[in-house]
Amino acid sequence: MTRIAVLLRDRCHPKECQGECLAYCPPVRMGQECIVWGEDSKPVISESLCIGCGICVHKCPFTAIKILNTPEAAEGEMVHRYGQNAFRLFRLPVPKLKRTVGLLGSNGIGKSTALRLLSGREQPNLGRYDDPPEWKEILDHYRGTELQAHLGRLAKGDLRVSVKPQYVDVLADSNLTIGSYVDQARGDTGKALGEVGLEGMEDKPLAEAAGGEMQLAAVARTLAEDVDLYLIDEPSSYLDIVHRLRVAALIRKLGETKSVVVVEHDLAILDYMADQVHLLYGESAAFGVVSHPMATRTAINTYLSGYLRDENVRFRTEPVAFTAHPPRPSTSRYELVSFPPLEKEYPHFRLRVGEGSLRKGETIGIVGPNATGKTTFVKLLAGAEVPTQGTPPSGVRVSYKPQYLKATGEATLQERVLALAAAKDFDNTFFQNELVPSLHLQPLMETPFPNLSGGELQRVAIALTLAREATLYLIDEPSAYLDVDERMNAAKVLRRAVENRGATALIVDHDVYFLDLLADSLMVFHQDGKAAGRGEGPFSMREGMNRLLASVGVTFRRDEETLRPRVNKAGSVLDREQRAKGEYYYEAA
Ligand code: SF4
Repeated sequence: MTRIAVLLRDRCHPKECQGECLAYCPPVRMGQECIVWGEDSKPVISESLCIGCGICVHKCPFTAIKILNTPEAAEGEMVHRYGQNAFRLFRLPVPKLKRTVGLLGSNGIGKSTALRLLSGREQPNLGRYDDPPEWKEILDHYRGTELQAHLGRLAKGDLRVSVKPQYVDVLADSNLTIGSYVDQARGDTGKALGEVGLEGMEDKPLAEAAGGEMQLAAVARTLAEDVDLYLIDEPSSYLDIVHRLRVAALIRKLGETKSVVVVEHDLAILDYMADQVHLLYGESAAFGVVSHPMATRTAINTYLSGYLRDENVRFRTEPVAFTAHPPRPSTSRYELVSFPPLEKEYPHFRLRVGEGSLRKGETIGIVGPNATGKTTFVKLLAGAEVPTQGTPPSGVRVSYKPQYLKATGEATLQERVLALAAAKDFDNTFFQNELVPSLHLQPLMETPFPNLSGGELQRVAIALTLAREATLYLIDEPSAYLDVDERMNAAKVLRRAVENRGATALIVDHDVYFLDLLADSLMVFHQDGKAAGRGEGPFSMREGMNRLLASVGVTFRRDEETLRPRVNKAGSVLDREQRAKGEYYYEAA
């Protein structure tokens, strides 16, 4: 095992602490320079002198230090390191011609670093951040390995690469239209837009585009380029299930003739598009190890099991379990509220929702394509919008998490919670005792809101919404920006909170695995003409899934080992059989 000492620089505030790391470090107290102050007044930790006692980790008031050991499997395989006490990556994924290679792992574990190194934007330094090797030495290091040819082409500059970046929100700052942006790929723009479903949107300014439209534009531009290697980072964020499957099919097709590497957290979509997958494990922001490639089914099952046998690595204490049968309908639960038919008219959009009833202790998924009024319905119930027809239920205390999160103000989470704790409806005990540990918020308490990453902000928003005492929780797209583990964890926390409080939750989301683990019943939204949406339900999970998937034209089978849902190939025997029976998702009763 090799000792790794990491300083999370954005969390370290030496002017606001007493230098506890130095003061308490046993080797420092013995006169050794295990920790010294660096030029920027932040501590520098010597990994060779550190004895791994972990005292500094616990004493640092900002949880800015991590002391870890790398698994033996990775020793001597460091590909890149950003600095002395900074993140490092062990091993690289291997792009393959005529294959789509997936990367699956937590946030902050090195997936984006791996893509940067594969694209040539960054040159591997083999851990020698202070004395980076030349290409010749790098190529000697990888001689005889599968990566030799790839790195050789990068060194010669004759590998053409197209990259779809992870964050597409930045496109909102562009002054281009969707058409002129995709045109930069110098491919067939009309065809590219048509393939992703953006036909007729050429003239729409990116600054006015919704998140899903920006994602589709970014995918269209990347795929329109004629290059040797496509690196695609999180293509399904902001997309509804219809567009996720559409984009996944395009990427899969591209992988039949080109080299494609894709990072994806929606397991149903990753399963559908990748031929093989590398798992990434390690410690977020500290180090990451890329596993050897596995067949996609094996890789996802291994990930869900939480144990990578080949390398004797456990990355979760419990496996994630699915069932092939839907949960029992919750007829025994008391009704919380019923709502009459509701309508909302805007100048360019009309929503109609049929009457329905919500039960106490129930978690209801809301599914359907984008732009069918799911968020509008949630806002009508939350009182954030007034219906044109129908009266939403009154007397229901609502706590609402919006779809798009904004980190306003400079306050830290700790300061925000202190301010909220004075409010009557904020359950601070529940927040501190249940939500902080289960959503892993402790290390974020001293971080100012603008410094939180997308996934961190999402976890904080879920916690603050659940900490408010309410009878109805309306939670819009909680899985956005969360990695697979965070999604599974959030599903558990949401369910437990709703059941324990005897409340009801409506959850808008597009991730089938997330909804499978979370929901007792489903409301389904459809397109109802060109500029109108229609909502129905809640239905039992079986009926809701059948209604949704029949409208999308997709069937799922169950994995024999884990019972997780897997997308059927269109027109396969199973696909045809299930369509004929009208069972799109669950096994026949
Ligand atoms: Fe010192 Fe290492 Fe112990 Fe930290 S973990 S206090 S650096 S010996």
